[in-house]
Amino acid sequence: MDSMIDLRSDTVTKPDDVMRAAMAAAEVGDDVLDHDPTMRALEERVAGLLGIEAALWVPSGCMGNLIALTQHLGRGDRFLAVKHAHVVDSELGTGSWIAGGAPVPLEPDEQGMLRPEDVRNTDGRYDMQRTTLLCIENTANFLGGTVTTPERHRELVATAHEQGLKVHLDGARLWNSAISQGVPLSVLAEGVDTVQVCLSKGLGAPVGSLVGGSAAFVAEARRMRKMLGGGVRQGGVLAAAGMVALDRMEELAEDHANARILADGLVDLGWEVIRPATNIVMATPPAYITPVELASVGVAAFALIGKIRFVTHRDVSKTDVTQALAKIATLHEGR
Ligand SMILES: *Cc1c(COP(=O)(O)O)cnc(C)c1O
Repeated sequence: MDSMIDLRSDTVTKPDDVMRAAMAAAEVGDDVLDHDPTMRALEERVAGLLGIEAALWVPSGCMGNLIALTQHLGRGDRFLAVKHAHVVDSELGTGSWIAGGAPVPLEPDEQGMLRPEDVRNTDGRYDMQRTTLLCIENTANFLGGTVTTPERHRELVATAHEQGLKVHLDGARLWNSAISQGVPLSVLAEGVDTVQVCLSKGLGAPVGSLVGGSAAFVAEARRMRKMLGGGVRQGGVLAAAGMVALDRMEELAEDHANARILADGLVDLGWEVIRPATNIVMATPPAYITPVELASVGVAAFALIGKIRFVTHRDVSKTDVTQALAKIATLHEGR
């Protein structure tokens, strides 16, 4: 059998020769002592793209989110996030047991966006938890890569701030949202207190995220990164990969086109599919097909929240996607 078409996640993307050459040639220093020059350049570039004062490189998106949550939450606090948000479902509960807040999962609207009317501070009585934070996930991973529009983003941020809540944007795939909607990243990060973005997903870097906000936040974030063991020395080798990754943002449009092809093909096979706005296809097969069966015909995907999740990325081509559909079709024969 020919090799597996890996649609489990856009994190499986491998650095290509151009990226590896940039890593090899990177100018480096000791980032833990006094900043690595390539790290600094990457942080400044990302802060500029997001329209924030400052940003800090961190090894992973989870660490970036956790650092932000530790700044916004204390014991007895609550934080709001969409149901199945990464900070709620997929970070080992660290928002609670390290940052100290209890998650309140919110039901999204039909487009997969949070509703401003749900952003409320239930504070009031001394024996009730305070709601101190709203987390927006754009794109919303487990909802099918859905996007929050600039209008909704502004409403959510304004409502949160009126209610005295801080806003953290989990923008692991904010690039996908921006490219899909044809808007600048800074518009999707407008007004937030903190934001986290991943270089290691669709952009293809092997490692790295950035967390940012005000300069004061980043100064605290640097201390917290140190506490969590996330400071690295000659990090320029990694930051150089991030620089190349950022040059490739526009190419995410191809992943989105491939996701639409995949979704259309699955619909033709009788699957129930959430129309993809970006590179994530959440789908339910007509008769249950397990990821094990998919793998047996050469397609790797994950079972998540009762559905099957396919993610397109720069290491799968349009041809790979049509081949994947042909392979999946063989599972339907005779059923
Ligand atoms: C992947 C992801 C993260 C965490 O990133 P890691 O680098 O895997 O720690 C956070 N939020 C969302 C929405 C993600 O998809």
